[in-house]
Amino acid sequence: MKAVMLHGKGDVRVENVPDPTLQEATDVIVRITTSAICGSDLHPFHGRMPPDDPFSIGHEFVGVVEEAGKEVRAVKRGDRVVAPFSVSCGFCYFCRNRLPAQCETTNHAVFGMGRRGGGWAGAQAQYIRVPFADFMLERIPSELTDEQALFLGDIFSTGYFCAENGGIRPGDTVAVFGSGPVGLCTQMAAHLFGPARVLAVDYVPYRLERSKALGCVPVDASAADPVEQIRALTHGRGADVTLEAVGHEAALQMAIKAVRPGGTISSVGVYVEKTFDFPIGDAFLRDLTLKMGKCNAKNYIAPLMPLIHQGKVDPTVIITHTLPLDDAVRGYRIFDQKEEQAIKVILKP
Ligand SMILES: [Zn+2]
Ligand SMILES: [Zn+2]
Repeated sequence: MKAVMLHGKGDVRVENVPDPTLQEATDVIVRITTSAICGSDLHPFHGRMPPDDPFSIGHEFVGVVEEAGKEVRAVKRGDRVVAPFSVSCGFCYFCRNRLPAQCETTNHAVFGMGRRGGGWAGAQAQYIRVPFADFMLERIPSELTDEQALFLGDIFSTGYFCAENGGIRPGDTVAVFGSGPVGLCTQMAAHLFGPARVLAVDYVPYRLERSKALGCVPVDASAADPVEQIRALTHGRGADVTLEAVGHEAALQMAIKAVRPGGTISSVGVYVEKTFDFPIGDAFLRDLTLKMGKCNAKNYIAPLMPLIHQGKVDPTVIITHTLPLDDAVRGYRIFDQKEEQAIKVILKP
């Protein structure tokens, strides 16, 4: 089969690799019908992770069950399915306590992240082996398109998790840092909690336009200090809740500065840095709450699916490019370089 292989910094290639096969009776082989390139794929693509052998990349996918192990009960050949990005067993302490992204059995593995992610093959490919399929796979109703279901496995669930962790109350002013794919999903999700306003902070004009189309107030970080702009919009107090969906220190520092006393900062940006400065004295004096982490996407797939089904939210609006898998190299380039006004690039094997 064909798969996107990451060979090193800036070097992705579409290559022929062996087809995956069932290894355990609880495995399923999924024929992938749609996958996506994620912002977190850019960490290894930028060489921001420890060196690794070439590995197949990607963790956002939907597809059709091609073959199911003999102990699989929840899905059968021909079912359309979506899976979370993290590989989880369903029976360890953390999986049983609604923290499947912390799975002890798989050592909190992620599809398509090389050795660091546990060595699981990636989803930018024609087929993928999904272990613990009864727990991992959620069936997609026939009325939903691939594109509607795709982001439940990661970025829409992540955006919802970020907004939920913010503890948004009706009437709040929420500031979202980042109008990339996760940022836009976070903005959409934030609106579901009844805020008076969602401010969207970014420095890329075409991305701010997208936020505006979602009903957000754009805050152009290239024009003036976004923290000052947010204070000016909130009687000098700061936002009630700040949501950080970038994954760079500067964005988190701004999210901390831009929240009002007693407010909550919720962060879902992926950090590869071990440490950075945290204004602990300021956070103490201003009674701040910081929540962060890797989304337990598995918990959100089934509950959020009806919101998309009923048209309450439409994550497909972030898709700017649908490319054949063979064009993945171009997909990485335009996504990484923000060429052609790219937001979300999806791949069709
Ligand atoms: Zn992702
Ligand atoms: Zn587990």
